[in-house]
Amino acid sequence: MADANTVALITGANKGIGLETARQLGKLGVTVLVGSRVLARGEEAAEVLRGIGVDARAIKLDVLDPADYGAVAEAIGKEFGRLDILINNAGVLLDPDRPNNHTSTTPQEVLRDTFDTNFFAVVALTQALLPLLRKSEAGRIVNLSSILGSLTLHATKGSYVYDAKTFAYDTSKAALNSFTIHLAHELAGTKIKVNSAHPGWVKTEMGGAGAVMELADGAKTSVQLATLGEDGPSGGYFHMGESLPW
Ligand code: NDP
Repeated sequence: MADANTVALITGANKGIGLETARQLGKLGVTVLVGSRVLARGEEAAEVLRGIGVDARAIKLDVLDPADYGAVAEAIGKEFGRLDILINNAGVLLDPDRPNNHTSTTPQEVLRDTFDTNFFAVVALTQALLPLLRKSEAGRIVNLSSILGSLTLHATKGSYVYDAKTFAYDTSKAALNSFTIHLAHELAGTKIKVNSAHPGWVKTEMGGAGAVMELADGAKTSVQLATLGEDGPSGGYFHMGESLPW
Protein backbone atom coordinates (compact mmCIF):
# COMPACT_ATOMS: atom_id res chain seq x y z
CA MET A 1 0.00 0.00 0.00
CA ALA A 2 2.42 2.66 -1.21
CA ASP A 3 2.70 4.63 -4.41
CA ALA A 4 4.47 7.46 -6.12
CA ASN A 5 2.76 9.98 -3.86
CA THR A 6 4.00 8.33 -0.67
CA VAL A 7 6.72 10.12 1.31
CA ALA A 8 8.91 8.21 3.77
CA LEU A 9 11.54 9.41 6.22
CA ILE A 10 14.05 6.81 7.38
CA THR A 11 16.49 7.65 10.16
CA GLY A 12 20.02 6.26 9.90
CA ALA A 13 19.44 5.49 6.22
CA ASN A 14 22.98 6.12 5.03
CA LYS A 15 23.94 2.47 5.51
CA GLY A 16 22.84 -0.95 6.74
CA ILE A 17 19.18 -1.88 7.11
CA GLY A 18 18.10 1.75 6.78
CA LEU A 19 19.70 2.15 3.35
CA GLU A 20 18.32 -1.17 2.14
CA THR A 21 14.85 -0.19 3.41
CA ALA A 22 15.16 3.06 1.45
CA ARG A 23 16.09 1.08 -1.66
CA GLN A 24 13.17 -1.33 -1.34
CA LEU A 25 10.60 1.39 -0.57
CA GLY A 26 12.05 3.48 -3.38
CA LYS A 27 11.59 0.59 -5.80
CA LEU A 28 7.89 0.60 -4.83
CA GLY A 29 7.77 4.20 -6.02
CA VAL A 30 7.96 5.84 -2.60
CA THR A 31 9.86 9.12 -2.28
CA VAL A 32 12.49 8.41 0.35
CA LEU A 33 14.11 10.96 2.61
CA VAL A 34 17.45 9.50 3.58
CA GLY A 35 18.07 10.63 7.15
CA SER A 36 21.74 10.82 8.01
CA ARG A 37 23.53 12.44 10.93
CA VAL A 38 26.38 13.37 8.61
CA LEU A 39 24.77 14.96 5.57
CA ALA A 40 27.62 13.97 3.22
CA ARG A 41 26.99 10.27 4.01
CA GLY A 42 23.29 10.74 3.29
CA GLU A 43 24.03 12.56 0.03
CA GLU A 44 26.28 9.72 -1.06
CA ALA A 45 23.61 7.11 -0.27
CA ALA A 46 20.87 9.16 -1.97
CA GLU A 47 23.01 9.49 -5.08
CA VAL A 48 23.44 5.72 -5.27
CA LEU A 49 19.66 5.30 -4.89
CA ARG A 50 18.91 7.89 -7.57
CA GLY A 51 21.30 5.98 -9.82
CA ILE A 52 18.92 2.98 -9.68
CA GLY A 53 15.84 5.08 -10.32
CA VAL A 54 14.74 5.84 -6.76
CA ASP A 55 13.40 9.30 -5.85
CA ALA A 56 15.78 9.75 -2.92
CA ARG A 57 16.75 12.93 -1.13
CA ALA A 58 19.25 13.25 1.69
CA ILE A 59 18.21 15.06 4.84
CA LYS A 60 20.50 15.97 7.75
CA LEU A 61 19.11 14.29 10.84
CA ASP A 62 21.17 13.53 13.91
CA VAL A 63 18.54 11.92 16.13
CA LEU A 64 20.47 13.16 19.18
CA ASP A 65 20.21 16.78 18.05
CA PRO A 66 16.78 18.28 18.89
CA ALA A 67 17.59 21.24 16.62
CA ASP A 68 17.36 18.84 13.68
CA TYR A 69 13.79 17.75 14.53
CA GLY A 70 12.31 21.19 13.89
CA ALA A 71 14.40 21.71 10.77
CA VAL A 72 13.36 18.33 9.36
CA ALA A 73 9.67 18.90 10.18
CA GLU A 74 9.79 22.32 8.55
CA ALA A 75 11.53 21.03 5.42
CA ILE A 76 9.08 18.14 4.99
CA GLY A 77 6.08 20.37 5.70
CA LYS A 78 7.23 22.93 3.14
CA GLU A 79 7.94 20.41 0.40
CA PHE A 80 5.21 17.79 0.92
CA GLY A 81 2.75 19.16 3.49
CA ARG A 82 2.62 15.76 5.21
CA LEU A 83 4.63 12.64 6.08
CA ASP A 84 3.28 9.19 5.22
CA ILE A 85 5.93 6.87 6.65
CA LEU A 86 8.37 7.36 9.53
CA ILE A 87 10.88 4.59 10.08
CA ASN A 88 12.77 5.02 13.34
CA ASN A 89 15.70 2.92 12.19
CA ALA A 90 18.80 4.61 13.67
CA GLY A 91 20.13 2.66 16.60
CA VAL A 92 23.27 1.87 18.58
CA LEU A 93 24.66 -1.17 20.36
CA LEU A 94 27.15 0.11 22.91
CA ASP A 95 27.39 -2.75 25.42
CA PRO A 96 30.89 -4.15 25.76
CA ASP A 97 31.56 -7.32 23.78
CA ARG A 98 30.98 -10.66 25.42
CA PRO A 99 32.19 -12.01 27.81
CA ASN A 100 32.57 -8.53 29.37
CA ASN A 101 28.94 -7.40 29.07
CA HIS A 102 27.64 -8.29 32.50
CA THR A 103 24.47 -6.60 33.68
CA SER A 104 26.01 -5.96 37.10
CA THR A 105 28.91 -3.99 35.62
CA THR A 106 27.25 -2.14 32.74
CA PRO A 107 28.45 1.47 33.09
CA GLN A 108 25.77 4.12 33.66
CA GLU A 109 27.19 6.01 30.70
CA VAL A 110 26.56 3.07 28.38
CA LEU A 111 23.00 2.75 29.64
CA ARG A 112 22.29 6.46 29.21
CA ASP A 113 23.91 6.77 25.77
CA THR A 114 22.06 3.70 24.53
CA PHE A 115 18.71 4.94 25.82
CA ASP A 116 19.37 8.41 24.37
CA THR A 117 19.52 7.04 20.83
CA ASN A 118 17.35 3.94 20.96
CA PHE A 119 14.54 5.32 23.10
CA PHE A 120 14.48 9.04 24.00
CA ALA A 121 15.40 10.20 20.49
CA VAL A 122 12.73 7.99 18.91
CA VAL A 123 10.06 9.37 21.23
CA ALA A 124 11.12 12.99 20.70
CA LEU A 125 11.46 12.76 16.92
CA THR A 126 8.13 10.96 16.59
CA GLN A 127 6.44 13.60 18.74
CA ALA A 128 7.91 16.32 16.52
CA LEU A 129 6.72 14.64 13.32
CA LEU A 130 3.27 13.50 14.46
CA PRO A 131 1.52 16.65 13.21
CA LEU A 132 2.79 15.84 9.69
CA LEU A 133 1.89 12.13 10.02
CA ARG A 134 -1.63 13.12 11.07
CA LYS A 135 -1.98 14.90 7.71
CA SER A 136 -1.33 11.63 5.84
CA GLU A 137 -4.15 9.50 4.46
CA ALA A 138 -2.36 6.43 5.87
CA GLY A 139 0.41 7.29 8.33
CA ARG A 140 2.75 4.45 9.22
CA ILE A 141 5.37 4.46 11.99
CA VAL A 142 7.89 1.63 12.22
CA ASN A 143 10.12 1.39 15.29
CA LEU A 144 13.20 -0.75 14.69
CA SER A 145 13.26 -2.88 17.78
CA SER A 146 14.97 -6.25 18.16
CA ILE A 147 14.05 -9.69 19.38
CA LEU A 148 16.51 -8.78 22.16
CA GLY A 149 13.83 -6.40 23.43
CA SER A 150 11.51 -9.31 24.21
CA LEU A 151 11.08 -9.61 27.99
CA THR A 152 9.20 -12.87 27.52
CA LEU A 153 12.02 -14.53 25.57
CA HIS A 154 14.72 -13.18 27.89
CA ALA A 155 12.83 -14.70 30.82
CA THR A 156 12.35 -18.05 29.09
CA LYS A 157 15.16 -20.54 29.66
CA GLY A 158 16.16 -22.19 26.40
CA SER A 159 14.73 -19.41 24.20
CA TYR A 160 16.68 -18.11 21.22
CA VAL A 161 17.87 -15.03 23.16
CA TYR A 162 18.07 -16.42 26.71
CA ASP A 163 21.89 -16.35 26.81
CA ALA A 164 22.28 -13.26 24.61
CA LYS A 165 22.02 -10.67 27.34
CA THR A 166 23.25 -7.20 26.32
CA PHE A 167 21.69 -5.23 29.15
CA ALA A 168 21.69 -1.66 27.85
CA TYR A 169 20.66 -2.56 24.30
CA ASP A 170 18.01 -5.07 25.36
CA THR A 171 16.35 -2.76 27.87
CA SER A 172 16.38 0.16 25.42
CA LYS A 173 14.51 -1.96 22.87
CA ALA A 174 12.07 -3.20 25.53
CA ALA A 175 11.35 0.46 26.38
CA LEU A 176 10.93 1.20 22.68
CA ASN A 177 8.40 -1.63 22.43
CA SER A 178 6.49 -0.04 25.28
CA PHE A 179 6.46 3.26 23.33
CA THR A 180 4.97 1.38 20.36
CA ILE A 181 2.18 -0.02 22.54
CA HIS A 182 1.42 3.30 24.22
CA LEU A 183 1.46 5.36 21.03
CA ALA A 184 -0.68 2.83 19.16
CA HIS A 185 -3.21 3.03 21.99
CA GLU A 186 -3.34 6.81 21.69
CA LEU A 187 -3.61 6.69 17.90
CA ALA A 188 -6.30 4.02 17.73
CA GLY A 189 -9.14 5.43 15.69
CA THR A 190 -6.79 7.57 13.57
CA LYS A 191 -5.31 6.65 10.19
CA ILE A 192 -1.87 6.11 11.76
CA LYS A 193 -0.49 2.65 12.54
CA VAL A 194 2.58 2.11 14.70
CA ASN A 195 4.46 -1.17 15.07
CA SER A 196 7.76 -2.56 16.31
CA ALA A 197 9.95 -4.52 13.89
CA HIS A 198 12.59 -7.15 14.52
CA PRO A 199 14.57 -7.22 11.27
CA GLY A 200 16.35 -10.51 12.03
CA TRP A 201 20.04 -10.97 12.72
CA VAL A 202 21.35 -9.10 9.72
CA LYS A 203 24.81 -8.69 8.18
CA THR A 204 25.49 -5.02 8.89
CA GLU A 205 28.09 -3.11 10.85
CA MET A 206 25.98 -3.72 13.97
CA GLY A 207 24.95 -7.30 13.17
CA GLY A 208 28.50 -8.34 12.27
CA ALA A 209 29.80 -10.79 9.73
CA GLY A 210 28.46 -13.79 11.68
CA ALA A 211 24.86 -12.66 11.18
CA VAL A 212 22.58 -15.08 9.35
CA MET A 213 20.45 -12.75 7.21
CA GLU A 214 21.38 -10.83 4.10
CA LEU A 215 20.48 -7.15 3.91
CA ALA A 216 17.75 -7.72 1.32
CA ASP A 217 15.82 -9.92 3.77
CA GLY A 218 16.77 -7.75 6.76
CA ALA A 219 14.79 -4.80 5.36
CA LYS A 220 11.66 -6.79 4.56
CA THR A 221 9.95 -6.45 7.95
CA SER A 222 10.39 -2.66 7.93
CA VAL A 223 9.02 -2.43 4.39
CA GLN A 224 6.03 -4.66 5.21
CA LEU A 225 5.11 -2.60 8.27
CA ALA A 226 5.65 0.69 6.41
CA THR A 227 3.25 -0.36 3.66
CA LEU A 228 0.47 -2.00 5.71
CA GLY A 229 -3.01 -1.68 4.30
CA GLU A 230 -5.91 -0.11 6.16
CA ASP A 231 -6.83 -3.46 7.71
CA GLY A 232 -3.26 -4.07 8.95
CA PRO A 233 -2.30 -4.30 12.63
CA SER A 234 -1.19 -1.50 14.95
CA GLY A 235 0.56 -1.79 18.29
CA GLY A 236 2.25 -5.08 17.33
CA TYR A 237 5.77 -6.54 17.36
CA PHE A 238 6.69 -8.43 14.21
CA HIS A 239 9.36 -10.28 12.29
CA MET A 240 8.59 -11.16 8.67
CA GLY A 241 4.85 -11.07 9.26
CA GLU A 242 5.00 -13.22 12.40
CA SER A 243 4.00 -11.81 15.79
CA LEU A 244 6.69 -11.89 18.50
CA PRO A 245 6.10 -12.20 22.24
CA TRP A 246 6.66 -8.90 24.07
P1 NDP B 1 24.19 -0.12 11.48
O1 NDP B 1 25.13 0.04 12.63
O2 NDP B 1 24.65 -0.75 10.23
O3 NDP B 1 23.55 1.30 11.11
C1 NDP B 1 23.04 2.10 12.12
C2 NDP B 1 22.52 3.38 11.51
O4 NDP B 1 22.06 4.23 12.58
C3 NDP B 1 23.62 4.16 10.79
O5 NDP B 1 23.08 4.83 9.66
C4 NDP B 1 24.05 5.19 11.83
O6 NDP B 1 24.63 6.36 11.29
C5 NDP B 1 22.68 5.48 12.42
N1 NDP B 1 22.77 6.24 13.65
C6 NDP B 1 23.30 5.91 14.84
N2 NDP B 1 23.24 6.95 15.69
C7 NDP B 1 22.63 7.97 15.02
C8 NDP B 1 22.27 9.29 15.32
N3 NDP B 1 22.55 9.85 16.50
N4 NDP B 1 21.62 10.03 14.40
C9 NDP B 1 21.32 9.52 13.19
N5 NDP B 1 21.68 8.28 12.81
C10 NDP B 1 22.32 7.53 13.72
O7 NDP B 1 22.93 -0.89 12.10
P2 NDP B 1 21.79 -1.80 11.42
O8 NDP B 1 21.49 -1.32 10.05
O9 NDP B 1 22.16 -3.20 11.67
O10 NDP B 1 20.59 -1.47 12.41
C11 NDP B 1 19.44 -0.70 12.06
C12 NDP B 1 18.42 -0.88 13.18
O11 NDP B 1 18.04 -2.27 13.27
C13 NDP B 1 18.93 -0.49 14.57
O12 NDP B 1 17.93 0.18 15.27
C14 NDP B 1 19.25 -1.84 15.22
O13 NDP B 1 19.16 -1.79 16.62
C15 NDP B 1 18.17 -2.73 14.61
N6 NDP B 1 18.52 -4.15 14.62
C16 NDP B 1 19.58 -4.63 13.89
C17 NDP B 1 19.88 -5.99 13.92
C18 NDP B 1 20.99 -6.57 13.12
O14 NDP B 1 21.21 -7.80 13.21
N7 NDP B 1 21.71 -5.83 12.31
C19 NDP B 1 19.09 -6.93 14.74
C20 NDP B 1 17.99 -6.33 15.45
C21 NDP B 1 17.73 -4.99 15.37
P3 NDP B 1 26.25 6.50 11.11
O15 NDP B 1 26.61 5.76 9.85
O16 NDP B 1 26.43 7.97 11.01
O17 NDP B 1 26.88 5.90 12.33
